[in-house]
Amino acid sequence: MSDASTPASWHANTLDCVHCGLCLEACPTYQVLGTETDSPRGRIYLMRALAEGRVTDTDAIRPHLDRCLDCRACETACPSGVRYGHVLEAVRAELRAQPPRTGRTTRSFRARLASFLLRAVVAHQGRLRWFFRFARAAELSGLRRLARALRILPADVDALVPHVPPGPARRPLPAVVPARGERRGRVALFTGCVMEQVFGEINRKTADLLAANGFDVVVPESQRCCGALLVHDGQLEPARELARRNLAAFADCEVVITNSAGCGALLRDYGHLLDTDTARAFASRCQDVTAFLARAGLRETPARFAAKVAYDAPCHLCHAQGVRTQPLELLRSVPGLELVAHPSAEDCCGSAGIYNLLQRDLASAIGRQKAKALATTGAAVVATGNPGCMMQIAASLRAEGTPLAVVHPVELLLPEPPS
Ligand code: SF4
Ligand code: SF4
Repeated sequence: MSDASTPASWHANTLDCVHCGLCLEACPTYQVLGTETDSPRGRIYLMRALAEGRVTDTDAIRPHLDRCLDCRACETACPSGVRYGHVLEAVRAELRAQPPRTGRTTRSFRARLASFLLRAVVAHQGRLRWFFRFARAAELSGLRRLARALRILPADVDALVPHVPPGPARRPLPAVVPARGERRGRVALFTGCVMEQVFGEINRKTADLLAANGFDVVVPESQRCCGALLVHDGQLEPARELARRNLAAFADCEVVITNSAGCGALLRDYGHLLDTDTARAFASRCQDVTAFLARAGLRETPARFAAKVAYDAPCHLCHAQGVRTQPLELLRSVPGLELVAHPSAEDCCGSAGIYNLLQRDLASAIGRQKAKALATTGAAVVATGNPGCMMQIAASLRAEGTPLAVVHPVELLLPEPPS
């Protein structure tokens, strides 16, 4: 375990908190539950007490930490620079390593199953591919409908699980997508695990967008899942193994482009996860596609898109990566597109990896708040750059009966195809 996640290190981080409470209103769980122990300040207090040995009943504090989305809105709000996400992830790993105080685990069957699937399936590209083949077969054969009818698959979970696209959309990208027109450089594309299987079309459009703007796009075949879901779950060692594989896969790439905010945030945090100079150097080469293109400049004018669009900022893009203005800047360059004000664009939507499958009531309350806020914008389309947010926002809008389309920003930035 790297030094950055030892109890001494996360304890030191908690000492930066001066208990001012400026983070409370930014916290989605505090907004819904209104309890101090479900606020950033309260959780920091609990984690500090755990490190100091003043709290020994880990079963009592675990639910409060489980209810945290790890959205890091509190980091943006905090004037003292508390690195809340690092503290939480280290404490989750610590709690995972400790046997339950009563001898019996208080984690739900669903949480334990999720942990197992993350470790045994999501972290292995080949198994994940088989999992999605099975999911596709279940859809085509009507098994998914049957599971829902028999309530084996609860309706709210079914609403969150996307429909797996047919085969062609999931065909692997070529190893290189060559630049079109005058060549401006070479970038590598991080394709992600769930992103590639469920939103493979967006990966293709991202590569297309970069190529149309003059960049050769390489897609290393040996890349792996970023490990973010494992880190959120406190499974740091398997996440580190994935990180090492990604360092090797992208070793000769000067720029690594991500289009999933959750993946990008962790890739840019590999320096902390692995605590090596190589990992820190790699992290500094990773950029979200919108940050990269805003800096490089769009050479090709995007195709006309005459609609009102609200931009919703994924937490792991705005709070974790500090990418705020660049997606807006790019969207403003789309002919015909009217960018409308969104009052809670940086509030969490309740997705947070697999949080919406484990904390269903809380996630759906947070998601409904988001859908209600979006309904007030007058937008016809919501643009957001993270697959989990796209799924959660779409499900929340459906639940609220608000018919807005949800797209990834890159889908609005593609130029007209050559005639
Ligand atoms: S990470 Fe998000 S949910 Fe967790 S304490 Fe901070 S603001 Fe609240
Ligand atoms: S804003 Fe920062 S210093 Fe203030 S209570 Fe929250 S975490 Fe602590």
